[in-house]
Amino acid sequence: MNPELEELYQAVILDHSRRPRNFGELPDAAVLVHGDNPVCGDEIHLAVKFHPDGRVQDIKFSGHGCAISQASASLMTMKLKGKSRAQATEMFRAFHDLVTEERADPPKSLGDLRVMQGVRKFPQRVKCAILAWRALEQALQQNKGESTVSTETDLVAS
Ligand code: ZN
Repeated sequence: MNPELEELYQAVILDHSRRPRNFGELPDAAVLVHGDNPVCGDEIHLAVKFHPDGRVQDIKFSGHGCAISQASASLMTMKLKGKSRAQATEMFRAFHDLVTEERADPPKSLGDLRVMQGVRKFPQRVKCAILAWRALEQALQQNKGESTVSTETDLVAS
């Protein structure tokens, strides 16, 4: 990656970690997933409300942790509103590839999420970046209720 682009990406990550979007409670959420990354100490509480047709109607998160984990959650929630389950799952796969595989040209559909591609050089940071997505994956499977996921158990798609 060229240095200018890397600088820009880091600025986006910092901005989202300082002023996370869609941060807070979602009182009438159908699904609540608590995500835990014990390696770094990151926590994400992801709340999702679904449309009757299955699309993501609203999504919010709360929690604390490193800049990568919080920025990744913030960027993720921005991309998911209005998306169908299939689209959300597809985005999870694309994001997983982005942070784990060397690829010259990440899909444009990922938009600002592409700022996370730098973490692939740091295996510990990949867990920070993927935490919110593990919670999302669980939320999509679960439909309603509350549950817990950890980056240290049954890593999916790896
Ligand atoms: Zn972290």
